[in-house]
Amino acid sequence: MDRREFLGMSAAAVASAAAAPAHAAQSAQRGAMKSATGKVFRRIATEEAFSIPEQLELMTAAARAMPDHFDVGAWLGRTAESPIQKGLALEGDRLKVMDENGVTMHVLSLTSPGVQVFDADTAVWLAQVANDRMAELISRYPNRFAGLASFAPQDPKRAVKEMERAVNELKLHGFVVNSHTNGEYLDDPKFWPILEAAEALDRAIYIHPRSPSDLMREPYAKYGLDKAIWGYQAETGLHAVRMILAGVFDRFPKLKIVLGHMGESIPYNLWRLNYMYHNHKGRRSPVLKTDPADTFKRNFVITTSGVESHAVLKYCIEVLGVDNIMWAIDYPYQPTTPAVKFMDTAPVSQQDLEKLYFRNAERVFHITT
Ligand code: MN
Repeated sequence: MDRREFLGMSAAAVASAAAAPAHAAQSAQRGAMKSATGKVFRRIATEEAFSIPEQLELMTAAARAMPDHFDVGAWLGRTAESPIQKGLALEGDRLKVMDENGVTMHVLSLTSPGVQVFDADTAVWLAQVANDRMAELISRYPNRFAGLASFAPQDPKRAVKEMERAVNELKLHGFVVNSHTNGEYLDDPKFWPILEAAEALDRAIYIHPRSPSDLMREPYAKYGLDKAIWGYQAETGLHAVRMILAGVFDRFPKLKIVLGHMGESIPYNLWRLNYMYHNHKGRRSPVLKTDPADTFKRNFVITTSGVESHAVLKYCIEVLGVDNIMWAIDYPYQPTTPAVKFMDTAPVSQQDLEKLYFRNAERVFHITT
């Protein structure tokens, strides 16, 4: 190589080195918006609920028949004009609230308990309608919304068909399951075609809370314990631990599960989970290829929905790594302004803040808009 060639190469190297940060900066600025604290950032919120009139009609009818049911009863007497239902509208004030708070994007999911309290035919139909409605909104605002598809676990075969349609045709970004379905959990092999499909489609399943099932009714029946104050994380954490101990992730090592609420208490329990697994291995617990804590770190990503504590955030970053945590609001159940303030003021580096606010969400949910 002569000097001229060498200089030409160096010039190209310098040019591409200069282009790289510029590109990164552009990506960080894409959709960057100003929050109430004055911080300009790209913010992707990853557990944001919506409802559609068809769900409201089915849920209120179910609530009239089962007013004492934990999940269904809360919908008794709701109308489209109820404050919670207005908040859950796909459009309504949603974009206005996002704009006012500097929120770039909502990753949407049909609100809990989704389609999972209905008979299989109704559930399959409602999942299709909800997914179509969400995809239509995303097509109008590709920079503001992404979506997690519903499916009906009541019918695993048709669930897989809807999962394939959701990704291949509707271009949705992942899936949502609201914990148990009629008291059954995804560790049951009858649901494994659903897990196989999620792994093959390379899309994560967000296991969102709902109240514990009727099998656990009595201990949760007082003080509103079945709801977000305690029951949601107990139920959803149980679901995740069942999947880990069943060996689901030995069978589907690339399956990604997302948990909200800082991991539904599991990050706090990883040490004990491993210790007791080794105590019980081969007796009460099956022998797994990977220790439970390592499986959690490999196959799970958590979000900050509904837990605005910097102490918990710092702990989760330490035990799981910052790449495994995504920001979420839990709109409209949690107010947006404090959720943004919580993350704007998080005691982390600029680089980690980018991961928490949008880079991890872009990677996990394949968001390119
Ligand atoms: Mn939620």
